[in-house]
Amino acid sequence: MKFVYDFTEGNKDLKDLLGGKGANLAEMTNLGLPVPPGFTITTEACKVYLDSGEEPVALRDEVSSHLAALEKTMGKKLGQPDNPLLVSVRSGAKFSMPGMMDTVLNIGLSDKSVQGLAKQAGDERFAWDSYRRLIQMFGKTVLGVDGDLFEDALEEAKKAKKVAVDTELEAADLKKLVTKFKKIVKAEAGRDFPQDPREQMDLAIKAVFDSWNGDRAKLYRRQERIPHDLGTAVNICSMVFGNLGPDSGTGVAFTRDPASGHQGVYGDYLQNAQGEDVVAGIRNTVALAELEKIDKKSYDQLMQIMETLENHYKDLCDIEFTIERGQLWMLQTRVGKRTAGAAFRIATQLVDQGLIDEAEALQRVNGAQLAQLMFPRFDEQAKVEQVGRGIAASPGAAVGKAVFDSYTAVKWSRSGEKVILIRRETNPDDLDGMIAAEGILTSRGGKTSHAAVVARGMGKTCVCGAEELEVDTKRRRMTVPGGHVVEEGDLISIDGSSGKVYLGEVPVVPSPVVEYFEGRMHAGADDADELVEAVHRIMAFADRKRRLRVRANADNAEDALRARRFGAQGIGLCRTEHMFLGDRRELVERLILADTEVDREESLKQLLPLQKQDFVELFEAMDGLPVTIRLLDPPLHEFLPDITELSVRVALAESRKEPHENELRLLQAVHRLHEQNPMLGLRGVRLGLVIPGLFTMQVRAIAEAAAERRAAKGDPRAEIMIPLVGTVQELEIVRDEADQVVAEVETATGTELKLAIGTMIELPRAALTAAQIAEAAEFFSFGTNDLTQTVWGFSRDDVEASFFTAYLEKGIFGVSPFETIDKDGVGSLVKAAAQAGRATRPDLKLGVCGEHGGDPESVHFFHEVGLDYVSCSPFRIPVARLEAGRAAS
Ligand code: PEP
Ligand code: MG
Repeated sequence: MKFVYDFTEGNKDLKDLLGGKGANLAEMTNLGLPVPPGFTITTEACKVYLDSGEEPVALRDEVSSHLAALEKTMGKKLGQPDNPLLVSVRSGAKFSMPGMMDTVLNIGLSDKSVQGLAKQAGDERFAWDSYRRLIQMFGKTVLGVDGDLFEDALEEAKKAKKVAVDTELEAADLKKLVTKFKKIVKAEAGRDFPQDPREQMDLAIKAVFDSWNGDRAKLYRRQERIPHDLGTAVNICSMVFGNLGPDSGTGVAFTRDPASGHQGVYGDYLQNAQGEDVVAGIRNTVALAELEKIDKKSYDQLMQIMETLENHYKDLCDIEFTIERGQLWMLQTRVGKRTAGAAFRIATQLVDQGLIDEAEALQRVNGAQLAQLMFPRFDEQAKVEQVGRGIAASPGAAVGKAVFDSYTAVKWSRSGEKVILIRRETNPDDLDGMIAAEGILTSRGGKTSHAAVVARGMGKTCVCGAEELEVDTKRRRMTVPGGHVVEEGDLISIDGSSGKVYLGEVPVVPSPVVEYFEGRMHAGADDADELVEAVHRIMAFADRKRRLRVRANADNAEDALRARRFGAQGIGLCRTEHMFLGDRRELVERLILADTEVDREESLKQLLPLQKQDFVELFEAMDGLPVTIRLLDPPLHEFLPDITELSVRVALAESRKEPHENELRLLQAVHRLHEQNPMLGLRGVRLGLVIPGLFTMQVRAIAEAAAERRAAKGDPRAEIMIPLVGTVQELEIVRDEADQVVAEVETATGTELKLAIGTMIELPRAALTAAQIAEAAEFFSFGTNDLTQTVWGFSRDDVEASFFTAYLEKGIFGVSPFETIDKDGVGSLVKAAAQAGRATRPDLKLGVCGEHGGDPESVHFFHEVGLDYVSCSPFRIPVARLEAGRAAS
């Protein structure tokens, strides 16, 4: 196996092997763009190292021969005293993990070669500054020395010299600092800073491999759902310097605005600075457009390259570049992260430019982004007290209590508080706090600062670089213009779409995308914004492509009408138990407690017209579309009073010698019906079989409602669904009774109703005997909530709050199986049951109505296993439509 690839050997499609950075450096090299020469060590080498603790045997020799070739190209040798080649050693995994893994710059500098660099560059200060940076970075990341020790020494040097910034330190000061830094290394790491350049390089490579399993990186991967076994590649790249004076600099650029999608010149530039300075947000940058004034030649060349890259990648690219004494170098490019709104806009813009087709446009957006666009925003009419404005780095409206460190953010959010994390700038150590916070506010750094990049990736609201806010993290407070002080715990609101910062809690309003789906804003109308136009077009692409139909889980006409506006093609689950709440609860209570048939019949008689009216309204709202009505499902005791409360009431009445016959009777019934495991007890079809007349009353209500709608010239399409079936016999009994009732109503009303009868598949036994069950069912709807509960043996009402956090932390699963379908376990049962069911009954209709029906990843799975539809809550319908379209294209 080959472990090292020269930049001229790779290409952009080799991300698995070369990591994103390495693959794109190779692609740019092959496009003839100015990339400093170098080579990439593969992720395979990293995996061998992580698995065995040893680098692969062949690696050393391969690195040697690539290094020799690099030295030949560059005409200098690594660390050569008079004319040193210096290299950077950078991590680069398949998926971008900004700032999460290690990078070491200036490898090759030593006590000897620092002199050579000084001569080469004609700048002694620069050489010593580069050397101290190397010892600092190497000491911290490779040798594990506490980085603060170096920072403190640097601060002391500045104090001693009475200067404010490190650029004011001179060569002699930096020389002294190097001596100090070396002492720190010796004392802390128990070894000298290595003078042998190859040893430096080898140790740095190992450190990058190790950083794959650093805490920060692991946490980030969990959060972003990046698999833990990919490993990182390592890029060895000849150094170019942006800190060689005013004609040098470093910057970051986007080929379009990652917030709005508009084409133009977007980016940040920092004169006389090296590598990470821009991304770290340490010094404030100037807008990229300024570069035209500073260095027109490089600016023009950069614009040209950006156009080449966009046309080549057919997408927004982000770029890191360095200018060394007027020579432009490309250090990195990749398809850039963007806000959800920009993703929709860019996808349609690229279609209009003829760069991509509709199917590709659907791959450029996703349901999570659409869901994000449906979040409410701040009410523009609200009275607000704006106290600052920063850069709109990641959209959304976030309100929370001000906190000034990650620890507090995590602690407070765990106790249920909503917090806004306020920092001067963030760094990878703040990741925990950023995850915990509703939003992130920084006073420094641009659109490409750590805070902005990471927040965008997480879909979290972020305002950065709000310079007029004085953040004092030590005293946990922030002073706003005018002198008002925001203390820890004070409420603030931040708008990631406008960059505005407000005191107090600002009320929120629905998003324009929701207004569009609701039909209150129309695409093509004068006031429709660009985002609505883009969403409208993408939804049309998705609807044209998708095979899966999308239905709603809805139990009343209002939800049904909303679902219809959102594009639902019917109701996949009407939970009738939701119709038995409120005033009707008493009727159900009487039904349960009925001692005699007469009593029971009486309760059922009273419930019938109420149920019927519910269904009439539902059929009217969904006229012409299927409505699946599930017969009563939950354990009966849910309709009865709380056992403890009732016991107290009875005991009190007894002690006061008050009459309490009814209470006592109720208490006895509650005791009789009490179950240790109600979820596995008397519910679903079992209820229908045990309480005579209950299901037939519901079926009669459905049939009569359908007949009534038919008489009113409506087009009701009712489907009756039996819950929690475990064996075909249960279904057969209920089915026979239902058929009889429907026939009676048909005769009585003179209407042919054609009501389909089907079942839920939500128990493993039902899935395993699907072939038999299909004989009595015209459709299956997978109840993946209960199926997940019963396949895993996880109580769906308890586990997420109890041990799931630990399971997620331990990586047992990356996401709760109640949220995203567990393909290997629950999913394989769904797949097998679908096949078995269709083998019995080829026209068996198949759907899913568990929560997974609205989950993007699960929708793709249901598409793959051949279901006919997914059913989800009304608000998830657009997401499901989009994902169904993506799955099919
Ligand atoms: C299910 O179990 O997936 C389902 C849809 O039914 P419920 O959530 O009502 O139990
Ligand atoms: Mg269920």
